[in-house]
Amino acid sequence: MSNSTTNDTLAKARIAVLGYGSQGRAHALNLRDSGLDVVVGVRKGGPSWEKARAEGFTVAEPGEAVKGADLVAVLTPDMVQAKLYKESIEPNIKVGAALLFAHGFNVHFKRIAPRDDIDVILVAPKGPGALVRTEYERGRGVPSIWAVHQDVSGQAEAKAHAYANGIGGGRAMLIKTDFKEETETDLFGEQAVLCGGASSLVQAGFETLVEAGYQPEIAYYEVLHELKLIVDLFYEGGITRMLEFISETAQYGDYVSGPRIVDAATKERMKGVLKDIQDGTFAKNWIAEYEAGLPNYKKFKQADLEHPIEVVGHKLRARMPWLHPDTAKPAEALKKAG
Ligand code: NAD
Ligand code: MG
Repeated sequence: MSNSTTNDTLAKARIAVLGYGSQGRAHALNLRDSGLDVVVGVRKGGPSWEKARAEGFTVAEPGEAVKGADLVAVLTPDMVQAKLYKESIEPNIKVGAALLFAHGFNVHFKRIAPRDDIDVILVAPKGPGALVRTEYERGRGVPSIWAVHQDVSGQAEAKAHAYANGIGGGRAMLIKTDFKEETETDLFGEQAVLCGGASSLVQAGFETLVEAGYQPEIAYYEVLHELKLIVDLFYEGGITRMLEFISETAQYGDYVSGPRIVDAATKERMKGVLKDIQDGTFAKNWIAEYEAGLPNYKKFKQADLEHPIEVVGHKLRARMPWLHPDTAKPAEALKKAG
C-alpha cells in the first residue's frame, strides 16, 4: 500500500498524545516507530508520567504538550475529556492544528464544542491498545475507522490518513465513517450485544440451571467458560465457522431454541436501546450519573461482582493455571483465590 503522500502530511508535525493508557501508549509507540515526532501529555505525578518517560518519551503536562503541537490526540477516558479540553486544549492549541479523537462521544454529544479554527478528526482502531501495538511490531496493523468533523486546513482527511498509517491501521484497512455513526454504533454494540447483552445472557443462563437444581460448577462451564470457544470461532470465521465445528445436535438446538431466546421482542427492545442512544437520552443519563459520583453505577457493579457466577468462577479459574500466565505456579493462583 502506498502511503507516502499521506505520511508526508505529518512528516514535520509534532504530535501530542494526551493519555498513556490502552490506546495512548500504543499510538505513541507506533507513531514514534513510524518516524513521527511525539510528545506525551499526562498529569505530573500520575502513574502514566513515569511509564511514558521510562519508555523514552518527552513527557509534559497536557497544556504544555498541546502548545507546540500540530496534532493533538485525545486518548484519556471519555468522561474527563470535556474538562481536559476546556482547561488544557482550548487555550493552547495552535490555529490550524488538528484535534483527534478515538471515540466520537464528546464531540457528537456536544460536550466538547471545538474551536472553529482547528481541524477535528477521528481515528479509531478496531481493537484494544495491546493489539494495536503487537500487530504493528509484527509489521501488520489493526483495521481502523476514520472521520472528519471539521476541516479548516483543507488537510483534515490527509491528517487522519497519515495518523492512521502512523499507528499501522493503513497496513490493514481504513474505513471512512462519521462521528455520529462511530459514536452510536460503538455504544449500541457494547450495550446490546457485547458487554450488556452477553453478560446478561450468561447470568440468566446460569441462574436458570442453578435454580433448576444443577451444580453451579457445571453451570459455570456450560454457559460462561465455553462461550470462549464459540466466540473464537465467530472471530476467526463468523457463524459459518461455528456451524462447521459444532455437532449436528448443537446445530439443531441452535436453530430451534436460539430464536426462542432472542426473538422479535428482544429486537424491539434493542431498537429501544438504539433510540435512547440516538436521541441523546443515554448520554444525558450517563453524564448525570457520572457527575453525581456514580451512585447507581457503583450499585450495579457491586451486584455483578457478587453474582453467584462470580463466586464459583473465581474458585474454578484458580484450578485452570493456563488462565494465569503471569503467575509462576498454579499454587499461587490457588492461594490468591483463597
Ligand atoms: P485508558 O483508561 O486506558 O487510559 C487513559 C489515560 O488517560 C491514562 O494514561 C490516564 O492516566 C490518563 N488520564 C486519566 N485522566 C486524565 C486527566 N484528567 N488528564 C490527563 N490524563 C488523564 O483509556 P483508553 O481505553 O485508552 O481510552 C482512550 C480513548 O480511546 C477513549 O476515547 C476510548 O473511547 C477510545 N478507545 C478505546 C479503545 C480500547 O480498546 N480501550 C478502543 C477504541 C477507542
Ligand atoms: Mg466502545
